[in-house]
Amino acid sequence: MGKDVQIQIRAHGKINLGIDVLGKREDGYHEVRMIMQTVRLHDRVTLKREETPGIRISSNLSFLPCDESNLAYKAASLLFQEFSLEGGLSVHLEKRIPVAAGMAGGSADCAAVLRGVNRLYHLGLNLSELQKRGVRLGADVPYCLMGGTALAEGIGEKLTALPPAPGRLLLIAKPPVSLSSRYIYTHLTLNEQTVHPDIDGMVEAIRQGDAGGMIRRLGNVLEDAALGKCPQIGQIKRTMLENGARGALMSGSGPTVFGFFDDIRQARRAAKACRSQKLARQIYITELYPPRKTVELS
Ligand code: ATP
Repeated sequence: MGKDVQIQIRAHGKINLGIDVLGKREDGYHEVRMIMQTVRLHDRVTLKREETPGIRISSNLSFLPCDESNLAYKAASLLFQEFSLEGGLSVHLEKRIPVAAGMAGGSADCAAVLRGVNRLYHLGLNLSELQKRGVRLGADVPYCLMGGTALAEGIGEKLTALPPAPGRLLLIAKPPVSLSSRYIYTHLTLNEQTVHPDIDGMVEAIRQGDAGGMIRRLGNVLEDAALGKCPQIGQIKRTMLENGARGALMSGSGPTVFGFFDDIRQARRAAKACRSQKLARQIYITELYPPRKTVELS
C-alpha cells in the first residue's frame, strides 16, 4: 500500500450563468450551450483505503442512497475495475450542496472520487484522461473535474475554459421542492416564442470582465418549465431583486435560485426575507470560485 491511506477533497457546486437549449438530438439528449461557474459552496469527500475488499459509501444525509446508484460509488467502481485495484475503499460524503437542485452535487462528488482514487492509487491519469472516463458517468462530470468558468456545448461535455467571471458575492436559495432534470426537459417547449439567452454576448462580457454586461445577460431557457412546478422560483427571484440583488436566476434545471449582490448586508436581508416567507430552507451566502484576482493598479 502507498504512503497515503486517506485524503479529503472538496467537491464544489456549480451554478449556470446562462443555459440555452438548441434542440433534441436523435439519441434523446439535448444540445445545449451553457455558461458554467463553480461556487465556493462544496461537499467534503473523504476517501480511505481499506484492507477489506469492496466500495463503501456513507453520507451525512439519511435520504441519500449510498448504494451502487450513488455517483461516488460509480466513479470508484469504474477505476477499480479498469485498473484491477486491490483492497477496498470507503468514501464519506459530507453533503452541503443541495441535492437534486441544479447545482451538480452528484457530478461534483463523482469528479472528486475520480481525482481522489487517481491520487490514492497513483494511477497517473491527467485531466483529459479523467474527463474521458467521467463523461461515461454524467454529462456535467468533465466540467466538474475542470471547474472555474467555462462554456459547455454539445450535451455539456464540450468545454471551453473562460477567464474567471466578474462579480463575487452570491446568495443561493433552494425552495423545499426537488425537480428532476428529466421532468424539466420533458416539459420544455421550444418554439418561435422561446427567448434564447445571449450566450455569445455573455462569453464576451466575461472575457472583458464586464460584470454589468454579464449580469444583464443572465438567462435560463429551462426556467419557465420549472416555474410551472415550483412558483417559489419566481418569488425568490423577486425577493432577491427587491433586496438589492443586481441580477437573479434559476440554476441548471432548478429549483435553486442564485442572486448576485455587491453588499453582504443586502444579501443577508434577502436571505432573511426568503426564510421568513418560507420560500427556501437551504440558503447560503457564498462566492464565485476561484475568485477573480483583483488587478493591482500602479
Ligand atoms: P444537475 O445540476 O447535474 O442536474 P442536480 O443538482 O439536479 O444535478 P444532484 O444533486 O446531482 O442533482 O442529484 C440528482 C440525483 O442524483 C438525486 O436524486 C440523487 O439521489 C442522485 N445522486 C447520486 N449520487 C449522488 C451524490 N453523490 N450526491 C447527490 N445526489 C446523488
